[in-house]
Amino acid sequence: MYPVTLNLSGRRCLVVGGGAVALRKVEGLLFEGAKVTVVSLRPIPPIMDLSSRAVIGLESRGYWPGEASGYSLVYAATDDRKANRKVFEDAKASGVWVNVADDPQLCTFHLPARLLRGTLQLAVSTAGEAPFAARRLRELFERRFGPEWGEWVKAAARFRKTVRGVRRSEEEEARLFDRFFRSTVDAKRLTARVPAAAEEVAWLSGTGRKKKPGLVSLVGAGPGDAGLLTLRGRQRLLQADAVVFDRLSEAAMPGDLPRRVELYSVGKQAGLHPVPQEEINALLLRLAREGKRVVRLKGGDPYVFGRGGEEVLALLEANLPFEVVPGVTAAIAVPAYAGIPVTHRGEAVQVTLVTAHESEKQSGPQVRWDLLAQDRHQTLVGYMGVAALPEVVKKLLAAGMDPDTPAAMVERGATPGQRTVRSTLSNLTADAQRADLRPPSIFIIGPGVRHAENLNWFTTRPLFGERVLIAAPAGEFGEALEKNGAVTVEVPLPLTPAAQVLIGAHPLTGCILRSADEASIVFEESRTPGFGPEVIAWCLGKETAHRARKLGFLRVKEIESPAGAADLIARLKQHRRARNTYTKPSMRSMRQ
Ligand code: SAH
Repeated sequence: MYPVTLNLSGRRCLVVGGGAVALRKVEGLLFEGAKVTVVSLRPIPPIMDLSSRAVIGLESRGYWPGEASGYSLVYAATDDRKANRKVFEDAKASGVWVNVADDPQLCTFHLPARLLRGTLQLAVSTAGEAPFAARRLRELFERRFGPEWGEWVKAAARFRKTVRGVRRSEEEEARLFDRFFRSTVDAKRLTARVPAAAEEVAWLSGTGRKKKPGLVSLVGAGPGDAGLLTLRGRQRLLQADAVVFDRLSEAAMPGDLPRRVELYSVGKQAGLHPVPQEEINALLLRLAREGKRVVRLKGGDPYVFGRGGEEVLALLEANLPFEVVPGVTAAIAVPAYAGIPVTHRGEAVQVTLVTAHESEKQSGPQVRWDLLAQDRHQTLVGYMGVAALPEVVKKLLAAGMDPDTPAAMVERGATPGQRTVRSTLSNLTADAQRADLRPPSIFIIGPGVRHAENLNWFTTRPLFGERVLIAAPAGEFGEALEKNGAVTVEVPLPLTPAAQVLIGAHPLTGCILRSADEASIVFEESRTPGFGPEVIAWCLGKETAHRARKLGFLRVKEIESPAGAADLIARLKQHRRARNTYTKPSMRSMRQ
């Protein structure tokens, strides 16, 4: 079979048949700009609709002998084998390309399953013999080839034009194309990035030095669920030369971040400030001046109690380019994960985001708690409020807020460690202290909190609380784990520095070992922070479990071979149920 891509724009194409299969063919042809005629005795309504909108020509009749010859390409998809064969024979006789649905013998061309990323096209063909296999392979590629490939191919086309714009030797051209490819494609992970203009200039001038300052992207990482990182944020991370990150953003660190990316941890552990703000600013300036593309990754949103403003002001002053990629802030994400709508028709019509930890140096209080106390139809979301909670509650009550106002405190929201205390304004302090809630926590005060019990969807998932390491590609296991509420930490082996950061973001509860070899490599890497002795090694097959025990994994659980994702999930659920039954009742009510 000889693969080609056809330009069908403006070409006359014929589809004989008017059912669902024919409709799919019509849609594919229209997508390519073909002029489509459908011949069918009983066209289904969507085809009639296309015709009534003059998008296609429709002839409500049987196929006329010989008519295939007037077209460039013909499909037959009727349920009448004889008619299909007639179309095939006509087309073949007049040299027209023809395909009869589901009948490889009656085809002079086949349609591959395909993946589109801009003008980049990956086609998978089985010469019509196993379309299901081609489709599934396509789906696999779909997951591996991110949307960034569309931008990449655009950049490649642009680069080619620039290179061709000047007379060069063939070798010189090839060298430049190699350079482009090597610098923008991670061949192992199948990820791609768009090079900066400065980089391209450097390649073309042959110096290899970047002279222009790099761009600093302030990226919001979301509240702790890696899935809440924006597409733009992920794109910038994968393009970055350096990433400067906080403690609260670690869970969003892509496990597949290339090894060459420099990582700088400027994390603030509660109460400690290991890297002062001035030093962070200075680091950003230095990296940008070196011409690097820098991502400043911050928990939640960079501008919501994240000191993002101070950082961009420093960049502005130094005349360095920056951009801001917003993130999902804790006040939006955490209530949602705790079952609390922050606005609710007729109940809460206003949301206030407030810090309970005001800058001490300011003269007098900045937050007017007395005014905030007046509003009954508001949701008050307080950041950095663990230590200050008693004071805040006192001020609100003193200003006349109803002591029975529903109130909650959520610790480590949107993570496997999420804990919620639901209470009332007057009891919140005592209840939160009894549960020993610690930072990072937010408090939520307002009528919406009342819904938390009914609307809780996150911690009720069967595998909530599990944070499981699995070597990339996680495949069906990753999907099944996520679907049941477990967090999968998908990492390359051997671990990259970024993968180590990701692992350390929260404690792991388990790791999936699919083979004895995998057990060995994972064990080799298991001294990384977050990989404690409590981590359960879920081993597929006897041999894997045997190796895991021999290596020194302390908690080994064997899942009989041949085991699929369903067996693993069933075992994990069983384990989780047993665990929850044995926690003390008071703790159980906390883990809601
Ligand atoms: N820029 C961040 C906030 C940083 S200030 C954002 O937009 O979310 C740090 C405070 O954010 C914490 O003290 C806590 O109050 C809140 N916070 C951040 N992530 C949280 C989480 N996952 N669960 C609960 N509170 C969180």
